Amino acid sequence: MFRRSVSSCVQQRHALDTVGKATRVRFAPSPTGFLHVGGLRTALFNYLLARKRGGQCILRIEDTDQTRLVPGATDALQSALTWAGIQFDEGPSQGGNFGPYVQSERLEIYQKYAKQLLTDKLAYRDFRPLAQRQPGARAAALMREAYLPPGEDEAQERIARGEQFVIRLKMDPDRTFEFEDAVYGAMSFRPYVVNGTSDDPIIIKSDGWPTYHLASVVDDSEMAISHVLRGEEWLPSMPKHLAIYEALQIKPPQFVHLPLLINADGSKLSKRSGDVRVDDYRVKGIEPEALVNLVALTGYNHQHSEASEGEMLNMEQLIDDFELNRISHSRATLPTDKLPFLNRRHIIQKMQDTQQKSTMLARLRPLYAAEIGPDIEAGISDEALLQVASLGCQRVDTLAQIPASTAYFFQKPRWNSKECRSFRQSIPDQAFDAVLTDAKQFFKDIMTWDSSFLHAQLQDWMKKQVHGRAAVQKSLRTALTGLKAGPPVADIAFALGQSQTIGRLHEALTWDQAQR
Ligand code: GLU
Repeated sequence: MFRRSVSSCVQQRHALDTVGKATRVRFAPSPTGFLHVGGLRTALFNYLLARKRGGQCILRIEDTDQTRLVPGATDALQSALTWAGIQFDEGPSQGGNFGPYVQSERLEIYQKYAKQLLTDKLAYRDFRPLAQRQPGARAAALMREAYLPPGEDEAQERIARGEQFVIRLKMDPDRTFEFEDAVYGAMSFRPYVVNGTSDDPIIIKSDGWPTYHLASVVDDSEMAISHVLRGEEWLPSMPKHLAIYEALQIKPPQFVHLPLLINADGSKLSKRSGDVRVDDYRVKGIEPEALVNLVALTGYNHQHSEASEGEMLNMEQLIDDFELNRISHSRATLPTDKLPFLNRRHIIQKMQDTQQKSTMLARLRPLYAAEIGPDIEAGISDEALLQVASLGCQRVDTLAQIPASTAYFFQKPRWNSKECRSFRQSIPDQAFDAVLTDAKQFFKDIMTWDSSFLHAQLQDWMKKQVHGRAAVQKSLRTALTGLKAGPPVADIAFALGQSQTIGRLHEALTWDQAQR
């Protein structure tokens, strides 16, 4: 029934933009586990909307279900969000004027609201033992008739005796709840039956803690939240939330329910079908910018028609592009096959960004030390390391792969490798000797060791070679790197420097001749 009402409303979607009210959004995770890519997408869309509109993005920790808390989860969530580049304006670590931002520190606030609802006779204490409190298929009003809540005096006596109770909101079972969702359009829940059952929702549990529903509504109001962006899995809770808003006489915020990220087969995103934790991607060497890029464009209609999920966009561009009415209505699958490409593109961009120079060096140095040994690594200047890594990053999927793919710059090439030997078998000794001998002379004759000059000269020289361009190029690459593939030969030579280039060609030739 719920699904049908969702799809029937899809056609009626409107581009809702609350004008005039300061945009304040919140990401409200429960510390019950790690940050999933679905959670990252929700956090990101909140962040993009806040930044686009010059508003505030708030982090609120929803820890009212104490039975589901996972130790360390709050820290893990925060560090995954920080890694992803999502900055909150207010939150447990940032503070702010609307705190505290952890629900377990706000219990008195919820009690105050619950008390108000009791006083207004819009809520009641239910002292029935748990077993008798189970919701039936009958409407809530009938349940209330069957259960006559005690008057205030009797209730106080029973509380003094230590009797347990929950507080329930009175709900009209015939009530139709309507609201306009920014993604799903006009929504209508009628009658108040979700998943075949009807019940007066609990707002305060028997341990005195609020349920998510009360805490969420109270906090969104107390924190002046203008837009609630969250996963579509919360749509079934809307009647409860709207009933609480109504009872408290609070105007609800703009709701923006986000269609789920799903597996390719349509099932719920799960570990079985790949990585779901943000941390899984971090550990695999995915750059935060690449993951954010992919997640932001999944289930989102980018304004530039050529932009697809494979399009490279940085956070600034994502913010610039963000509009609520571009969020897609349908569930989407994360196209993780685009990640290697996006990751490489973001690594290349970061390598070219002078502001990121020291960060990239700090990340690369230990990786090089592990690959070529700390002594050799310590002898490489920052400039040389960045130059070489910039060449290497064009051909890798992760930053961690750069040192291995460029180690030959700092170590003697391995000419007896399988790839070298197989290439050597394909070219006669005479031709190989002639190419390397001529190349040595060519590099010696270069008067100005300048990158573009070298490129142009080498092009000309190669054209004149009788053994064919491919054979010449492969011979030089083999001699200089010991590998079959890599950056253009002119780039390799330029980075090695004139004397190293000549020296390597000479050594390669001598080594090769000694093997015959
Ligand atoms: N604490 C809820 C969750 O972790 C958030 C729901 C909401 O955003 O209202 O999914």
